[in-house]
Amino acid sequence: MLWLGDITTVAADAIVNAANESLLGGGGVDGAIHRAAGAELLEECRTLGGCPTGEARITRGYRLPARHVIHTVGPRWHGGGQGEAALLARCYQSVFARMEEHGLRTVAFPSISTGVYGYPIEQASRIALREIHAALERRPALEKVTVVLFSPGDLQVYQRALAELPGAQ
Ligand code: ADP
Repeated sequence: MLWLGDITTVAADAIVNAANESLLGGGGVDGAIHRAAGAELLEECRTLGGCPTGEARITRGYRLPARHVIHTVGPRWHGGGQGEAALLARCYQSVFARMEEHGLRTVAFPSISTGVYGYPIEQASRIALREIHAALERRPALEKVTVVLFSPGDLQVYQRALAELPGAQ
């Protein structure tokens, strides 16, 4: 369920992109996904007209080993008093909703919002794992959910959060 590596190498029904509201590419995992998928991904994203924070939009995966990319826009961290936790939870829920609509069973997430958007990873990891665990319980079509961490330190944070997750063991 937790994996250390590069999400652009993951073969799944979908990988999740931590995008920005324009859906027109950016740095971090967004840039890596667009580079690996090729220019056609940006062309399809241009037709979508952006995406509000907390929502998710689906495209094809083009040159990626993943069949689809589900682009979601995480909240920027403003100290925690501006609904960040609810918005981050909505990102995960929105991804699972798109998966169900398209009959997708396997997915890999990056750590949404914990890069440039500055969400403290200890808090973000608890929300991510809580929402994933809830989706696995509620959605029988969901087969495999992986969180791909990009550094050993981030992996450790998620491992600790997983160990503390009520009912997950
Ligand atoms: P956000 O703007 O939502 O914070 P970032 O892309 O800046 O998004 O960071 C989200 C997380 O994705 C960070 O933990 C970052 O280290 C990680 N990341 C960056 N590149 C990759 C990649 N190729 N595969 C997986 N995770 C990545």
